[in-house]
Amino acid sequence: MTCSGIGYDVHRLVADRPLVLGGVEIPHPLGLDGHSDADVLCHAIADALLGAAGEPDIGHLFPNTDQSIRGISSLEILRRVRALLASKSAAIHNIDSTLIAEEPKMSPHLALMKERIGAALELPPQRIGIKATTNESMGFLGRGEGIAALATATLDRP
Ligand code: MG
Repeated sequence: MTCSGIGYDVHRLVADRPLVLGGVEIPHPLGLDGHSDADVLCHAIADALLGAAGEPDIGHLFPNTDQSIRGISSLEILRRVRALLASKSAAIHNIDSTLIAEEPKMSPHLALMKERIGAALELPPQRIGIKATTNESMGFLGRGEGIAALATATLDRP
């Protein structure tokens, strides 16, 4: 059967952390805080895939109390999710996603993000959508306190 899933994630922007989105380190004075590299885009995509596959969410599979995954690249999380899905004979059709950030400008980095996420998921970049928008200066995202991401995934599974 064909199944879809949704994912959402948000992390706080802080000083002295690299900003990693879609597996790409983006030059910016602030980075996202978290147990892993805090890549909200990869985390939202992981949850969308896990939801479509009927699996528990990313916080269940990769708990922030697990010291063995401290600082883990979220591309590695996507690789592990892909392997889990493959073990359940799930075949990913496509991903779509939206980054919500007041800054920096995402458009120069989207092609590389698609390439890296595609490599982690063994999916052609053409089947990965990444869009970016601001929050029109409203609320915590609009004040630049954090970055959020939304994602959907569609896959076939037995
Ligand atoms: Mg997260």
